[in-house]
Amino acid sequence: MGDPILCPEIKYTQLFINNEWVNSQSGKTFPTLNPCTGKEICQVQEADKADVDLAVKAARAAFRRGSPWRKLDASKRGQLMNKLARLMRENITYIASLETLDNGKPYLDAREDIIAATENIEYYAGWCDKIHGQTIPVGKHEPVGVCGAIIPWNYPVQMLAWKLGPTLACGCTVVVKPAEQTPLTALYIASLIKEAGFPPGVVNILPGYGPTAGAAIAEHMDINKVAFTGSTEVGHLIMQAAGRTNLKRVSLELGGKSPFIILEDCDCKMFFL
Ligand code: NAD
Repeated sequence: MGDPILCPEIKYTQLFINNEWVNSQSGKTFPTLNPCTGKEICQVQEADKADVDLAVKAARAAFRRGSPWRKLDASKRGQLMNKLARLMRENITYIASLETLDNGKPYLDAREDIIAATENIEYYAGWCDKIHGQTIPVGKHEPVGVCGAIIPWNYPVQMLAWKLGPTLACGCTVVVKPAEQTPLTALYIASLIKEAGFPPGVVNILPGYGPTAGAAIAEHMDINKVAFTGSTEVGHLIMQAAGRTNLKRVSLELGGKSPFIILEDCDCKMFFL
């Protein structure tokens, strides 16, 4: 097992759109903090509605009939996803160290999360050429289209994998907004997505805030489905936005049910076992 990297180098802080690293249209950035010290780790480009529009355009173009992604054989999609999982395993020490820095969870926990995320991508890779549905077989299934994914800070890489796995396995394209507290590991994994060989526009990753970038995804007329994990309160907003606009499909995974109260006499070492 690799030892944690105490000060992992920050490699990516820009938006990931159409397989390219770009600054936000507004030029705005926001800080991401180390929760252990409260100190700023670095500034990250801040996505807003204009950036969401660009990312959705890229995802729509990548989804058009005849595009490299749509022409790809389903089993080849699985190969790309397995390659992404392999790259994540090869870089697990770096990714887990970055997750610990940005999210604050202990390194061994972060490592377990990355393993689970990798296994998730591999699981869905296996599904790529086995999706038949229960209708009269016509040879091909029809993917939903351009998806939006809005994820929380508590399992940054796992939540990313939970959203990417089924989206990519089904042949959809996606615009992901990581939580504003924890954008760094999603951006690094974007670089692995490019390295794995996914065509431009298939995956776009836009760090930013909920009421701006998140709301722009929820309201977007050219996004066919939004998957959200987070608070019940924001879940209400996402569903309302879908209802107000294009009736996009929505899947919500809401609320928390395992809070801890840590008192002064707690033996905190137990968290590191
Ligand atoms: P949150 O709902 O405020 O934030 C989650 C995501 O939604 C973030 O990316 C945020 O930027 C975005 N967001 C915020 N406002 C938005 C808006 N108006 N429109 C669109 N997107 C918006 O959640 P939180 O307070 O950061 O905490 C995470 C919550 O998620 C906790 O309640 C936790 O229990 C819950 N959670 C649940 C599960 C589950 O399995 N059900 C898993 C993980 C987290």
